[in-house]
Amino acid sequence: MGEGKNDLTLTRRSFLAAAGAVGAALFLKANAPMVAAAIADSNKKLVWLRGSGCGGCTASLLNGGNPDVLSALEKIRLEPAYHDELMLQQGMFVDGSPAGDSTHNSNVLLQDLIDAEGYVLVVEGAIPDGPEGSGRYCMSGAMSFKELFIEAAPGASCIVAAGTCAAYGGVSRLFSTAEAAGVSFAGTSKGQGAMARYGLENTVINVPGCPTHPEWLLLVLADVLAGRDVDLDVYGRPKAFFSAAVHDSCPRRGAYDRAGRDGRFSDGGCLYALGCKGPVAYADCPTRRWNGAASMCTQAGGPCIACVEPSFPGAFMPFFSTGESRDVFSDLNVDDVAKVIVGAAVVGAGIHAVKRLAIGESGREEKGGRK
Ligand code: SF4
Ligand code: SF4
Repeated sequence: MGEGKNDLTLTRRSFLAAAGAVGAALFLKANAPMVAAAIADSNKKLVWLRGSGCGGCTASLLNGGNPDVLSALEKIRLEPAYHDELMLQQGMFVDGSPAGDSTHNSNVLLQDLIDAEGYVLVVEGAIPDGPEGSGRYCMSGAMSFKELFIEAAPGASCIVAAGTCAAYGGVSRLFSTAEAAGVSFAGTSKGQGAMARYGLENTVINVPGCPTHPEWLLLVLADVLAGRDVDLDVYGRPKAFFSAAVHDSCPRRGAYDRAGRDGRFSDGGCLYALGCKGPVAYADCPTRRWNGAASMCTQAGGPCIACVEPSFPGAFMPFFSTGESRDVFSDLNVDDVAKVIVGAAVVGAGIHAVKRLAIGESGREEKGGRK
């Protein structure tokens, strides 16, 4: 992919072509001059690696609306130097051997970038350690992704974990044989994240979500590139986006407060009885909204599944269950419950939720999984 048939350099034109391939073509074409200016003026390189994940966070980024990825590139002067998924062509062969230069072989390009250091590293997807410590459940070329991550992490000026898999292990962590972890956390445990596991040290910012919101990611990148400190919560998430519960500003909150918690997918009632986890999901989705601020999960009729939380998805499954028969909210401690109590006390209508959070209607005490 590139200017020429076999040119792998991720130039303006090749970036446009790659983005077009995943559905953002019209927008990209309309804004091509901005991209040209952005890349021409770039003074920081972005290296984007993907481990164990679905690629949805890349698709989400490329479909960003406000700021769109191109406006953001222009503003933050970011050069997308390497992207695992957009650089579809992995290299060309010369006389039966892989080309040995960075223009024609993406492995060489990546190695050059790693050697030069100072890039912003975005990790998408979890980092499996299995089987038996080899990391070979997730390969990147001839290397395990684990090996690649260990090589790439130290030279980064900052690491941004994009999406819940990269931040906490996410869906990949559901399968214990993979022994997958996020960059700095495995679920709620920082000690079991890949950084601690492999003895690495670096600044890590978690931008969870399944997928992550393009604005969260782009605004974090903008802050990083501008040299601003990002204020993080105990799970490494920017407080600016992940402090308030979805429930606090949900468009269905009025129905909840009126005890109308038996809404159906197709009506305007509260979705609590359908398993909504909005009271324990901390994200600004109701105010930011998705897809160009058009809507968000509960507005569109789907219960929040707490996709931004470290214990997602395991602690919140089945998604469409209130948890009366399951320990859905077991991975919480008193701080979490207190947050809900504060919100509930204000409106005087949240006792039901608090009771379930603190004890569970199964009578089981919460385990205090959050630290
Ligand atoms: S329980 Fe869910 S649907 Fe109901 S008000 Fe809270 S966030 Fe909205
Ligand atoms: S509303 Fe809930 S499930 Fe939907 S994106 Fe936000 S945190 Fe994730």
